[in-house]
Amino acid sequence: MKNYKLVIFDLDGTLYDKRGLSLRMVLHAPLDIRNMQAERATRASLKGIWQDDEKHFYDTYFQRMAARMHCSATVAEQWYNQRYMPLMVKMIGKYQPLSEWVMPFIAECKEKGVKMVVLSDYEYAEEKLRTLGLNPELFDWVVSAPLLGGLKPAPELMHIITERMGVAPQDCLVIGDRDDTDGEMARRTGAQFRKV
Ligand SMILES: [Mg+2]
Repeated sequence: MKNYKLVIFDLDGTLYDKRGLSLRMVLHAPLDIRNMQAERATRASLKGIWQDDEKHFYDTYFQRMAARMHCSATVAEQWYNQRYMPLMVKMIGKYQPLSEWVMPFIAECKEKGVKMVVLSDYEYAEEKLRTLGLNPELFDWVVSAPLLGGLKPAPELMHIITERMGVAPQDCLVIGDRDDTDGEMARRTGAQFRKV
C-alpha cells in the first residue's frame, strides 16, 4: 500500500462475495421479483446523478420506483424498507462470506494510521457490516451515498468525504468491485482505484 491517507471501501461485492445474492433473494421472495427489477432499474436510472440531498434523492427514487411498480411512492418506500432491505441484510449474513483480504487489510490500515470510510450506494450499511461480523466502529465513517445526495460515480460524494476526513482526493484509495461506479468516481476526482 502506497502512502495513502484514506481508503474508501465500497461495501456490496467488495467487502463480501456477492455472487448468488440476487438469485437467493428471488428464491426467498419470488413474488417480489417485479419489485426487485423495478428497484434495480430505478437505481440504474439515478446512477451518478446528483440530487443535492437525501430528501431530493429519495423523493425521485421512490416516485420512479412507484411508477415502475404501479403503486404509490409510499407503498414503494414501505416495500423497500420493510421487505427488500431486511431481506438483503438477512441473505448476506446467512450466505455471503466476508472477503478474506478484508480483516488483514483493515489491520494494516489501523497500524499505519490510514483513515477508513465505507461508502455504499445502499442504505443499511451498518447492518450489513454487523451481519458480516465487522464492527462499524472500525471505520472512521460508514455512509450511504443516498444520504449525501446521490449515487456513485457522482464526484460530489468524494468531495464530501475527503473534506470531512481532511484528506486530499489524491491521497485516497478507492477499493470497489465496479469500475463504472467506484472506479469512475475515483478517476473523476484524482483518487486511485483498486478493483477487487
Ligand atoms: Mg459494489
